Amino acid sequence: TTAADWVKTSLDAIEKIDGELKSFLTVTADHATDLADKKPTGPLGGVPYALKDNMVTEGIRSTAASRILENYVPPYNATVENKLRSAGGVLVGKTNMDEFAMGSSTETSAFQKTLNPYGRGHVPGGSSGGSAAAVAAGLVPFALGSDTGGSIRQPAAFCGVFGLKPTYGRVSRYGLMAFASSLDQIGPFTRTAEDAAIVMNAISGYDERDSTSAKVGTEDFTADLNKGVKGLRIGIVRNLTEEGLNPAIKAAVDGAIRALQGAGAEVVEVDLPHSEYAVATYYLIAPAEASSNLARYDGVRYGRRAEASSMIDLFEQSRSQGFGMEVKRRIIIGTYALSSGYYDAYYKRAQQMRTLIRQDYETAFESCDVIVMPTTPTTAFKLGEKADDPLEMYLNDMYTIPANLAGIPGASIPCGFVDGLPVGLQILAKPFDERTILRVSHAYE
Ligand code: GLN
Repeated sequence: TTAADWVKTSLDAIEKIDGELKSFLTVTADHATDLADKKPTGPLGGVPYALKDNMVTEGIRSTAASRILENYVPPYNATVENKLRSAGGVLVGKTNMDEFAMGSSTETSAFQKTLNPYGRGHVPGGSSGGSAAAVAAGLVPFALGSDTGGSIRQPAAFCGVFGLKPTYGRVSRYGLMAFASSLDQIGPFTRTAEDAAIVMNAISGYDERDSTSAKVGTEDFTADLNKGVKGLRIGIVRNLTEEGLNPAIKAAVDGAIRALQGAGAEVVEVDLPHSEYAVATYYLIAPAEASSNLARYDGVRYGRRAEASSMIDLFEQSRSQGFGMEVKRRIIIGTYALSSGYYDAYYKRAQQMRTLIRQDYETAFESCDVIVMPTTPTTAFKLGEKADDPLEMYLNDMYTIPANLAGIPGASIPCGFVDGLPVGLQILAKPFDERTILRVSHAYE
């Protein structure tokens, strides 16, 4: 097979299935075909892939699934796109997502609703739901997503694929439309841990264009894949909050832990005493940063501009018409939390709690190599089920949010089905120890 064959197979599958699945916002068929004809070489030579639509691509519409960027065509590429292209990969399209990555179901997209390939009345999860669904449906062998509070791991769990949120700073955020800059991280969706390791080799590394990019050397993420789990210490959390946790998910995760034990891992108990505050902490910090990051969408510099009679009217009208409900909700919460009278009561206390949560993980990792728990408390919920209840939606991220607050890497790996819908096992590790996550995942698969 050649690059042209692979790309054609992917484009044909998209053509056939995506009219119903709706995982892509833009399909770059001509771009992909031209690129494949040039016979790209490298570790990903000729491999088709998709990017979440909040990663900018030169000459290719990039919308973050928002009306305010409806026809925005960026003049440059995100670092991840440049890196994938130089590794020989071929971009076949941009995937659907929650607007500006705010959501857990991909339903806040201004443009379309993506279906879950395992149950078409169900959501694919979010916010990177398009990327997860595209990989699960076999439209592309891999896709990138972004994870601010769970947006790679939660849709990976809901769609039955592997998803990795790397350590904060591991993958350059240059060209990723910022949601909450201190939490955002790009990572891969794949079918296996090995594929994720290969993609990580291509996309990770220091980037001088991202001031928060970590100055760590490049490494081979496939290096430990075959080491097995013998002697590894698997941490399970004492007093893990189980409110809202589906007992069948708990049973599937317990089964996975027993399998790892059977393969030679040692199970130890750890404490994460501040976990119960993670969702509240996140919903101050993330909206605060978002309210600042989204100030740039003023109708002048990018995207859609409203008809208006004055400058202030132009800003107001462009933002009122361009942003959806969830984005407006976040901007209001964020500006409130940062306002001078409330800063100490909300934003400052949230930052203090964030430190305590990070310290919980530092302490826990003194006695174990990885921590495992469910990725989500439920399987994929029904389309529309939580769309009008933001608090219910936010609580679906209770197990994924702490990793972003702590900056540590985490993955979701398929560990069974409940009523025909996939269940995800979450595996967390110390900063920059993605290799141990991949090693445990590969041993489990
Ligand atoms: N669901 C969370 C939110 O709505 C996390 C989203 C994400 O990780 N981008 O903010």
